[in-house]
Amino acid sequence: MPHSKPVRSMLEALRIAAGLTQLDLARATGTAQSEISKLESRGLDPDDPRLDGLAKALNRARAALLAPSIRPRLLHSFGRQVPLRSIRSHEASVMIVHAQVASLLSGVDGLPQADDKAYGLSDLSEVDPENLATLLRQNWGLFREPFIDGVALAETHGIICVRGDLQHLGVAALGSWPDGHRPLMIIDPETSPSAQRRAIAHEIGHRLLQREASGAAERAAQAFAEEFVLPASPIRAAMYVDPDGIPKQADYWGVPVIEFAKRLHDLRLLPRRRLERYVTDFADQPGSEAANSRPQTVRTAVKTRQSNGEALDRIAESAFVSPNRIS
Ligand SMILES: [Zn+2]
Repeated sequence: MPHSKPVRSMLEALRIAAGLTQLDLARATGTAQSEISKLESRGLDPDDPRLDGLAKALNRARAALLAPSIRPRLLHSFGRQVPLRSIRSHEASVMIVHAQVASLLSGVDGLPQADDKAYGLSDLSEVDPENLATLLRQNWGLFREPFIDGVALAETHGIICVRGDLQHLGVAALGSWPDGHRPLMIIDPETSPSAQRRAIAHEIGHRLLQREASGAAERAAQAFAEEFVLPASPIRAAMYVDPDGIPKQADYWGVPVIEFAKRLHDLRLLPRRRLERYVTDFADQPGSEAANSRPQTVRTAVKTRQSNGEALDRIAESAFVSPNRIS
């Protein structure tokens, strides 16, 4: 599977995010492309004389260029229809968001921490994706309950959620799991709530399964997500009690009726003929989908800092975000 070259530094990330080539940036700052290339591989010093010129050409604050670079670690592999340049441009923006989040959260105590030991689970090498999903459901207190608020659940477990546009990548949510830094989950608010939840579960599956990017890793993450969103055992029990309660159950699990019917079919609880009927009958009335909540961690951190006497403008400035994005 083809891979994009990793983004090496904030300078490189900011250049890619600005849609500039090395040559564009070299011309804008009156230097050689080879110089830009060198700076991108080793990063900038605070006393580099080119700093201001680069910041101006990139339309960014100096703080952005000097922020520590946290290399994104995406575990999802994209289909062939997603161009490498889109993935690379996403990695660039994720590196920038990692840096912004690290700055916004700095000095704030008491925020949920990501569990370094893979969310309280140990020795996962032998566990299949479905059992892994069951274990994580138990560890996270879901047991046989529906997984309704993907954002809240992820944030409770130390995964920082941020809204962002993922349309060019064709996914509803995408995680980045850098070693030694807070994990980040970008969530596309333009996608449906149940697609977001499924994608969040899929990404967490990747994190737990820790497999090399491959088609097999995708199928495993998908199986994990299916079981995490619509767990087989309680659904089997509910269907046994009330075989005709499919719309009601779909509502209870927070997914569209057709999605629920497909899961029943996969679990061999609904014959294809009846699945097809649900697909036709419910095409125009997908059912209600419970919304995910808005990401809170960053907001809470900023509020805490403000109540400690820091000015919003200063907090925003050092994290090179506009104040209205974090207030
Ligand atoms: Zn994936």
